[in-house]
Amino acid sequence: MVNMPVLSVVIPMMNEEEGIPVLFGRLVPILEQTGRSFEVVCVNDGSQDRTLAVLQEFQLRYPGIAIVDLSRNFGKEAALTAGLMQAQGQAIIPLDADLQDPPELIGEMLDRWDKGAEVVLAVRAKRETDTALKRATANVFYRIINSISEISIPPNAGDFRLMDRSVIEALKQLPERSRFNKGIFAWLGFRTEIIEYERPPREVGMTKWNYRKLWNFALDGITSFSSAPLRIWSYIGILIAGCAMLYGLVVIFKVLVLGYRDVPGYASLMTILLFSNGIVLIGLGVIGEYLSRVFIETKGRPLVIIRKVHKFGQND
Ligand code: UDP
Ligand code: MG
Repeated sequence: MVNMPVLSVVIPMMNEEEGIPVLFGRLVPILEQTGRSFEVVCVNDGSQDRTLAVLQEFQLRYPGIAIVDLSRNFGKEAALTAGLMQAQGQAIIPLDADLQDPPELIGEMLDRWDKGAEVVLAVRAKRETDTALKRATANVFYRIINSISEISIPPNAGDFRLMDRSVIEALKQLPERSRFNKGIFAWLGFRTEIIEYERPPREVGMTKWNYRKLWNFALDGITSFSSAPLRIWSYIGILIAGCAMLYGLVVIFKVLVLGYRDVPGYASLMTILLFSNGIVLIGLGVIGEYLSRVFIETKGRPLVIIRKVHKFGQND
């Protein structure tokens, strides 16, 4: 294994033909300036345009470009994962093709990595370039996922971060098919340092996300990292059944003791309805409890991620 690069930059691309020349024009000089060997792993995520052809042209000029060509569009998360699995560097950085992740930060990321950080996370200082609606929905999403899951995902961070080889090796131990990378990166842990930057608008082309995709993305995130939505039903059920019971007692009291009589049958009907609904929801919740455990087991994630095992006399 000679010629292993120090740095791998991984770029998922879907229909980015017009962006590629601008991208390499800015990225390659920066990578050369770092003075380290590097590779750029470009994942062609089922592009309909000439992305692949353009990449191949650039590969003739820069042999450091590796192209991972997917058979169809698998979506950004899967494409990025495929690229990360292929990357050989000691430090690995995912990057968006549209230059919204400024490559100028790579130098500083490498400095921090040299000083011992295992993850150097780039966080947006402001989200000015997003629409108000996107900012608001993103906020709600982070609020929800961080309160109902055990991981904490830093808001305003994307996939743009430097990761040490050990982090990528840990990543490979997660066999799940639904990949919510931001959550997975957060779940992995490791010594993380944060640098701030301002996210510029897209350089060329159009965003590949729409609200339908974002909604599914958010659902993937929540269901991959929390079973709260499955389990909440037992509690709602207990609440409803409890209320129904109280209401039933009130009705019985009113009829038998105070002698009130509404429409005949209404009170008993109402109580039975509420109570049985409560029971059904409790049942659903119990199923949810088991299902959530089956779900966790089938994901087959490792119990813990070990950074390194230190043995006596083997310190380096
Ligand atoms: N992308 C991809 N597959 C997809 C959608 C997007 O590989 O199905 C890539 C896209 O080419 C870009 C990156 O993911 O390099 C981020 O996409 P985009 O800039 O459209 O997302 P945004 O910045 O709007 O969140
Ligand atoms: Mg973008």
